[in-house]
Amino acid sequence: MRVRRATVLTALTTLTLSIPLFAPSSPASAAADRADAGRADVGRIRAAPVAEGYGGAISTVDATATSVGLDVLRRGGNAVDAAVAAAATLGVTEPFSAGIGGGGFLVYYDARKRTVYTIDGREAAPMAMGADAFVDPATGKPYDFQEARISGISVGVPGTLLTWQEALRRWGTRSLAASLAPAAAVAQRGFPVDQTFHDQIADPANHNDTSFAQFSSTRALYLPGGQAPAVGSTFRNPDLAATYRLIAREGVDAFYRGRLGRDIVNTVQHPPVAANPAVAWQYPIRPGAMVLSDLENYRVRFPAPTRSEYRGLDVYGMATPSSGGTTVGEALNILERSDLRSQPLAQALHRYLEASALAFADRNRYIGDYTPRATLDQLLSDGFAAERACLIDPAHALPKPVAPGVPDGSYGGCAQAPAGAANTQGTHTTNLTVADRWGNVVEYTLTIEQTGGNAMVVPGRGFLLNNELTDFNFTPTQGDAPDPNLPAPGKRPRSSMSPTIVLQDGKPFLAVGSPGGSTIITTVLQILVGRLDLGLSLPDAIAAPRASQRNTASVQAEPAFLAAPEAAALTRLGHTFTTTPEIGAATGIEFERHGRMLAAAEPTRRGGGAAAVVRR
Ligand code: GLU
Repeated sequence: MRVRRATVLTALTTLTLSIPLFAPSSPASAAADRADAGRADVGRIRAAPVAEGYGGAISTVDATATSVGLDVLRRGGNAVDAAVAAAATLGVTEPFSAGIGGGGFLVYYDARKRTVYTIDGREAAPMAMGADAFVDPATGKPYDFQEARISGISVGVPGTLLTWQEALRRWGTRSLAASLAPAAAVAQRGFPVDQTFHDQIADPANHNDTSFAQFSSTRALYLPGGQAPAVGSTFRNPDLAATYRLIAREGVDAFYRGRLGRDIVNTVQHPPVAANPAVAWQYPIRPGAMVLSDLENYRVRFPAPTRSEYRGLDVYGMATPSSGGTTVGEALNILERSDLRSQPLAQALHRYLEASALAFADRNRYIGDYTPRATLDQLLSDGFAAERACLIDPAHALPKPVAPGVPDGSYGGCAQAPAGAANTQGTHTTNLTVADRWGNVVEYTLTIEQTGGNAMVVPGRGFLLNNELTDFNFTPTQGDAPDPNLPAPGKRPRSSMSPTIVLQDGKPFLAVGSPGGSTIITTVLQILVGRLDLGLSLPDAIAAPRASQRNTASVQAEPAFLAAPEAAALTRLGHTFTTTPEIGAATGIEFERHGRMLAAAEPTRRGGGAAAVVRR
């Protein structure tokens, strides 16, 4: 079956923002780079959630990052060059979601080779981390989540900087120094604080109003005068500008072997606790065990992408340690067994929720950093999908949690393993999508885990550390079966990040990704179903109200989803709902005929994103 190209149904509202950007004070390394970096102003973009045109496209959550990436594309950089420059800028303007203190996963379509590659830049556990790292030795009980998060224990060895370096080295045309220069300029000169930036510090829901106050370095940067910076004020981060310039001069070794590395290790081992925090933190702040050799030995990996076929398209995603590729792929394989287009919308959504729950049961049972490739292949096989799909009852929601299946290569009935418990994950990260005039595509999700990571700014360096290791299960979750996601020395915690590139006849059709902890998987899945089955354009599929079923008793849904008539029909089928204000913050690009590209971001979630094209 071929997918019809949709027309854009969304009402395009175009908001014009002026985004002045300035050059760094120190020149970039290579002469060609110098010409690029020396520009005083990359110009103004029309920050809108949708843009359609030619010559390259970019979509991020942030107008400044989109502007930086667009400028790289305009001046001859390729998709990888633009993605790295934009990601480095997100490290400045979205510092609570992403930055060099964290990790992520990058999926790349190489147009010349017609091949999809990936980079696993996930954070790794220090070699001293044991399976019971998140169990309190005093009580034998797992730490509360916030207790584990705001500690040195939760910090994984960061992979983001090496991801940028390796992506540029393999596929880019510009140096790391040139790619960091515009972001350093933004950090130095400052950018306007918007409501999202302000709220990510001040909102008591994520505890950053309290946790940031515990550390002298974080307090000085993000709570000047004891308050989050005011909306509309200019926020500067000269320490981060200097850090980017240090890396530009000395390369990634400054981070993985040199001064920055020593400062990271020192922060983990001796958290920079403020002498007199204005507000108390309810837990002890525990040090971690990372040492410099953990940083020196860190490597990014280049795993083969996951691949599944859906309605005649090839869907490429991220393999372990992310569960994104297999879980999205398995759910699609289950859904492919029914024709969603011919069904009433409520029935199609019922199947979407059920397929997601089944795929999550399998994810929780089988996916971790060390899952053998053969298991991933079985989880993505049609035989396994058929066995799982036969459990779905069109007239009744399955009781949750559903048990995992048995991906053993012998399929027939509706086999199930004994049930295990579900798990949860954090809620913030960031995502970007870039394509260039040559047809190369980058889909990149990066994170420091929770909004604000572990709340520790490395003193004098201007960036926050991650708390990614809390993505490990603290204690076994799978009953008598082994838990694939317990901590171990050097292991990478399971992720849900799902950067996805869809090909049609070997050429890009769609690229999409989102933040949102374990809801990332359902957000990407729902957008794909919306676009490929439900007749929505990409912008409409991104804007559509979301619901997320991760094999838990109730479905998490946005208020607009619950207000739709289908929600009542789903309730009659036995689904129960809890409401949540917002799920995910996606970006994507669709590749239309004759080189035309449709870039899309969120119209409203997380303050709205910014899509742009090189030429309209
Ligand atoms: N740590 C999460 C993961 O790797 C992402 C965090 C988020 O999106 O909130 O799946």
